[in-house]
Parts: sequence; structure tokens; C-alpha cells
Amino acid sequence: MPAVHQGKILVSGGSGFVGSHVCHALLIAGFHVRTTVRSTAKGDYLVRKLNEVSGGGGKFEYVIVEDIEAPDAFDEAVKGVDGIMHTASPFHFNAEDPDELIKPAVEGTVNILRSAHKHNKSVQRVVITSSVASVMMPRDTPTVYNEEWWNEHSPAQVNEKGREASRLDFYMASKTLAERASWDFIDKEKPSFDLATIAPPLILGPCIHDIPSEDKLNTSISRFYQLFSGELKDANGDKLIEPMSNVVDVRDVANTHVLAMTVPRAGGERFISASDRAMVTNQDFVDALHERLGDNETVKKNVPVGEKGKGKSIHRHRFANDKAKTVLAQTFFSQEQTAVDTFLSLEEYAKQW
Ligand code: NAP
Repeated sequence: MPAVHQGKILVSGGSGFVGSHVCHALLIAGFHVRTTVRSTAKGDYLVRKLNEVSGGGGKFEYVIVEDIEAPDAFDEAVKGVDGIMHTASPFHFNAEDPDELIKPAVEGTVNILRSAHKHNKSVQRVVITSSVASVMMPRDTPTVYNEEWWNEHSPAQVNEKGREASRLDFYMASKTLAERASWDFIDKEKPSFDLATIAPPLILGPCIHDIPSEDKLNTSISRFYQLFSGELKDANGDKLIEPMSNVVDVRDVANTHVLAMTVPRAGGERFISASDRAMVTNQDFVDALHERLGDNETVKKNVPVGEKGKGKSIHRHRFANDKAKTVLAQTFFSQEQTAVDTFLSLEEYAKQW
């Protein structure tokens, strides 16, 4: 079980919400970090930001990988690293065709594994950012999902309906097929490294990546942004208790990646990275914001009140984080704290927009 405790880690997609936190967490844990980005502007921003928040001290570098679908995309980037974290993958619901998501997700994943296998026999472990999209299946009754589950529904939907499948299924199929492809690669190619995959639900929390304007928010934060911006100010109680998702804090997700790289027993395992509570609603968030940030002018002006406590009556599915807690000894932020910190982070960004 070749865990990696020191040296240099390659992180694909450092310009993203999750990727930037993964780079940050690795630097804090003492690693050298090389990330891939699609432009020098994004790379230069990260160098500045990570120096500011973690005193990078020359331990952070970036390389340009414009197209993760190109078969040799990562051939140079993998040289000289001890471990790899693959976060880059499209996450949006705007695609007209499922291949817009599935091809970069699957080929990007296989390409980084293939490049490591061909060009760097010193890579000990690869950690891949998957999603609960590859875990969950539609269920009418409240369900507790664990790492034994695989989403067979979304790939079948896309197979059967193609462009007519739902956009949610496009994304969910992309994550399922990419994760499947990574485990298949390990089975068939038997590389020098082992694999761990991380499956988070909706990720919120403070941002550190470059967000030049509100329309450039990533998909998960843009959902929460509706509360910040006042878009839901007049939403009625029913709207606020529509089941949303389980959530997890981005700092916890980054931590799960680091632990999955450093804990020997993590090799060969999938880990759900999710906060303790089951599904939340916007009502849970507004309760937390009014309780903890009641004097904040934006909260007073933009955040609806709804019916305090009503969100707690919503019981739907839950993603079990027991394995991350036992194997990785991980703890998780409360959803209330994550809501507060997401809000405060958006407030800082909004000053520049
Ligand atoms: P994000 O902010 O949009 O970041 C996506 C990253 O992937 C960016 O660095 C982006 O580069 C890169 N990327 C996307 N498509 C690419 C392509 N074709 N070629 C090269 N780079 C590409 O999204 P995120 O929320 O951080 O998501 C990161 C990972 O977490 C994804 O694998 C996603 O499936 C997974 N995940 C996210 C959530 C969530 O709620 N956010 C939940 C579960 C799993 P640019 O900056 O250049 O666009």
C-alpha cells in the first residue's frame, strides 16, 4: 500500500473551486505541488493566492495543459512527481450533448493514469475526485448510500436516450463512467501506483480560486449564491424546504484528498466525503445565517426568513461518511459553519465585482 507522505504531488485543475483547495491543503501538509491549468493568467493568479494563504515559499508551480482529452496531455506534467490528484472535469448542466461532459471526464481520467504509467514509475498513488453522482441511484424512500453503491441509472439513461437524457444524467454519467474507467485501468494495467477515489456531494465553503465576476461562479457555489444575492428573498416557505442535497465543506473535501494520499490503508478504496447530517434545504442555511450573522447587513437585506426549523423535518437520503471517519480519521465541518463561511467568502468576492 504505497501511501505518499512527502515529495511532489501533481494536481490537475488547480484553477477550480476544489482544485485550488486541494493545492492549498497539500502545501499546508508540507508537500511540493505542481498543478495543471489552461492559461498562464489562471496559473499566475494561483501562485499569488497560494503564496498569500499558505506561504507557498517556492513549493508551488503550474504547467499548462490546455486539453485534458489529448492522449498525451499529461506526459510532461507527470514527470518528477510522487503522487497525483486528478480534480479537473467539467461540472455544469449546460451541455447539449452528453459527450461534452463524458469525453473530457473519462478521457481526462484515463489520460492522466496512462501518462503516469508510461512516464513515471515512481508515482505511488493516484487520488481521483469522483462524486456521489457515481454512487447514488434514484430511490423513492430515504436511503443511506455508502461506498458499495454504484450509479447504474445515469449511464443507462444516456445510453438509451442520448441527447434526450436529462442534463443531470449527462453529468452523473460522466462521473460514474470516469470513476469506472479509473478502476478498470488499475485492474487491467497493474501500474506501479494504487488508486483512491473521493465522492463528495454538493460542495460549499469559502473560495480561494479566481472568480472575476458572479457569472463565473462554479456550479455548486452558484446555487448558494441565490441566497446571498437576494434572488430567494421572496421565496415562500415551501420553496425553502425543497430538498437540496447533502453538502460538504470544500476544506473537508481537500482534506479527504490529502488523507487518501497519506494513509496507507486508503489505497484501493472509495471514500464518500460528506458532512454528518443528511440532506439540507435552503431553510437550514437561512436559519444558520440569521442565527450566526444576524447583524450582517446583507443577511438582513437579502436572506429570507422562511419558517425557522422547518428544514429539519425533511428526511431524504444521506451519504454515509463512516468510512472516511474510521479509515482516514477525518472530522467534518457542520453544515451551519459551512453556510456561514460560504456567505462571508462571497461577501469578500462581491466587493470586487
Ligand atoms: P470548477 O470550479 O468548475 O473546476 C473544474 C476544474 O476542471 C477547473 O480547473 C477547470 O479548468 C477544469 N476543467 C474542466 N473541464 C476541463 C477540460 N476539458 N480541460 C481542462 N480542464 C478542465 O468545478 P469544481 O466544483 O471545483 O469541481 C472539481 C471537481 O470536483 C470535478 O471533478 C467535479 O466533478 C467534482 N465535484 C464537484 C462537486 C461540487 O459540488 N462542486 C461535487 C462533487 C464532485 P478551468 O478553470 O480552466 O475551466
